[in-house]
Amino acid sequence: MPPTLAAGGPRVLLRRLREIMAEQTSAQDRLNKLVSVIAANMVAEVCSIYLRRAGGALELFATEGLSAQAVHNTRLAKGEGLVGLIVETAVPLNLSDAPAHPKFSYRPETGEDPYKAFLGVPVVRGDQVIGVLTVQNLTARHYDEEEVEALLTVAMVLAEVVAQGALYDLAELEDVTLAPTKPVHYRGDAIADGLAIGQIFLHEPRVKVERMIADDPVAELQRLEDALLELRASVDAMLESSDLDLAGETREVIEAYRLFANDQGWRQRLSDAVRSGLTAEAAVERVQDETRTRMNRTSDAYLRERLHDFDDLARRLVRYLVRAGSPWESHAPLPGSVVVARAMGPAELLDYGHSQIAGLVVEEATQNSHIAIVARSLNLPLVGTVEGIADTARAGDTIVVDGETGDVHLRPMSDMLVAFHAKQALRAQRVARFAAIRDEPAVTRDGVRISLNINAGLLVDLPHLNESGADGVGLFRTELQFMVGAAMPGLKDQVQFYRKVFEAAGAKPVVFRTLDLGGDKVPSYGRRVIEENPALGWRAIRVSLDRPALLRYQVRALVSAAEGRRLRILLPMISQVAEFQHARAQIDRELERASRMGMPLPEKVDIGAMVEVPSLLFELNQILAEADFLSIGSNDLLQFIFAADRTNPVVSRRYDTLSPAVLNLVRGITDTAGKAGRLPSISVCGEMAGRPLEAMALIGLGITSLSMQAASIGPVKMLIRSIDTRALRPVLDRLSTLSAPSVRDALTAYADEHRAELGRLV
Ligand code: PEP
Ligand code: MG
Repeated sequence: MPPTLAAGGPRVLLRRLREIMAEQTSAQDRLNKLVSVIAANMVAEVCSIYLRRAGGALELFATEGLSAQAVHNTRLAKGEGLVGLIVETAVPLNLSDAPAHPKFSYRPETGEDPYKAFLGVPVVRGDQVIGVLTVQNLTARHYDEEEVEALLTVAMVLAEVVAQGALYDLAELEDVTLAPTKPVHYRGDAIADGLAIGQIFLHEPRVKVERMIADDPVAELQRLEDALLELRASVDAMLESSDLDLAGETREVIEAYRLFANDQGWRQRLSDAVRSGLTAEAAVERVQDETRTRMNRTSDAYLRERLHDFDDLARRLVRYLVRAGSPWESHAPLPGSVVVARAMGPAELLDYGHSQIAGLVVEEATQNSHIAIVARSLNLPLVGTVEGIADTARAGDTIVVDGETGDVHLRPMSDMLVAFHAKQALRAQRVARFAAIRDEPAVTRDGVRISLNINAGLLVDLPHLNESGADGVGLFRTELQFMVGAAMPGLKDQVQFYRKVFEAAGAKPVVFRTLDLGGDKVPSYGRRVIEENPALGWRAIRVSLDRPALLRYQVRALVSAAEGRRLRILLPMISQVAEFQHARAQIDRELERASRMGMPLPEKVDIGAMVEVPSLLFELNQILAEADFLSIGSNDLLQFIFAADRTNPVVSRRYDTLSPAVLNLVRGITDTAGKAGRLPSISVCGEMAGRPLEAMALIGLGITSLSMQAASIGPVKMLIRSIDTRALRPVLDRLSTLSAPSVRDALTAYADEHRAELGRLV
């Protein structure tokens, strides 16, 4: 009769494992007992545990049935033998005649030649195979599904035990580091300057599974079924939600979620894992670990992409099971935390804004995305384009985020921490140097006065106006206020808000940009309009012209808040002069209305246009004649000029802001404006204006007004006071004729040679 699973099956086995692990004996002792109990339970002559050493070799850590001398002596190189194959494929290997397999590697010291039947399963932790658990029998046979399932379950518990350091005194013998305690260094994109050292708060937290082994499998199956029901209902609710109004790709994604959530194969694998003795949450993790390892090895990009969806669903299911609040809600981080996310929108960041987080790492954030802008406005260091960190990071781990260099250190060693604390101190000194020139004018060495302004959008930005010593607010992004609230602000709210802005600014000018909603700026309460290309879609002035009431209300609020003061209004995304004229007509109608009603009119109303859509460059003379001022929105302008989505990390870094094309573009604008005698009415308010090297180039090309995040005022002013525009102009003229993709290095060399202050740490 072929051997089979002993009476009681895996549940008894798991209970025994738990008892063994709780014993106060040495780790080797416990492992030895473990293999002998597994062998007995599975009616196998051999049971062995191999664990991975650094470098990938697999070492025999314990065995029942093979020669005891082989323990800690038999090592299989990476990929060697059947065990190596299991690590590579991450799937169980079930063979009735193992020695006949081409990958079989005979090791005389083990004495394993007489054993024919072989079953090996991967020991998986996260998405890594950290070892292999095997059973062997003398007679040729195929292990049945139940046995494979049982061994997989045991392997999962073993993985947990290894990771939790229960075998630490063994692992200590050499450099086995299985628990996620290793320091990891990432080099991402430095998106928002600053340095944060803190504990990780996961934006989409992975819930820790505490209970692995179930006491009552029937009740456990019921828990699983209940949680699956909840999960399915929540996905259905998402699809049906009128708030989200899903269409196109987003709907497809959620539809795929629905398919996965209802997948009978998934449900079956989950229930099988529960039947083998695991708790429902441990079962979800085990099945997910298997799916992840399998899918990660596939070359099918689509499948690998779907892994994120599967991971997300599994995480949500676990959260339903352990009741860590509703899976769709996030909870609040402690002050000083560093938030780590795969992706995050500006509205989500604004939600965190109130919890005094110290910094951010967002895998998919890019330089000119709106999350970047909001991070800068909140003065939060942000590093983006950091692949894989959301999976590797654990809540509560220490992390260092250097928003100046793009370095992220996960679980840093103590000397690294000391170095970063020193850097923090240096940064504080640098800030003190900027503060010392706060009241000095921003004048170049040859006497050119540059107007320096801040970009703002929230009340928290306003104290920065005086703290930084800026001349005014060059860009007030009014849409941010629409994005923080739970509902659309009414007329009264808007009046109150703008009044506060006027009050905070005092005599300094504020340029209010009308709503620039759409694209990646969508308020939580808004109906999400799904578009193939949102950046090219229904946004900004297009919305305002199609929904004039929105624009009129906003202008009404601004006029009322101005209370007779001068009002500056900036219109975003103007593509044609005709759009500017239409918007101006709406503004005029509001002014007429105010006058009819006897309200105090602003002393003067200046209306400007953002230059951020390339078509406007071809009507530059006309718009110069119509508009009171122009503001170059380099973030959008460059994404359209280079046809490279500012929010897409794959392409956003492809083209350097400091390329001959951009230099020629800016020079074209300043030359035309200069000829029209309008140079002083041109400013740059995109992110490039706040970077000293870029600011130097802009000034060299004739720009005399810049608007930037408040934290950049000091560094840019220091730069301005160290340069000479007469010397710069010919350098930029020469650089703009080059065919190089970037002039960054050449410009940096010039700056260093001429002692231009680029604001780097000494
Ligand atoms: C720009 O596009 O450069 C700009 C300043 O506007 P926003 O970044 O808000 O789109
Ligand atoms: Mg823009």
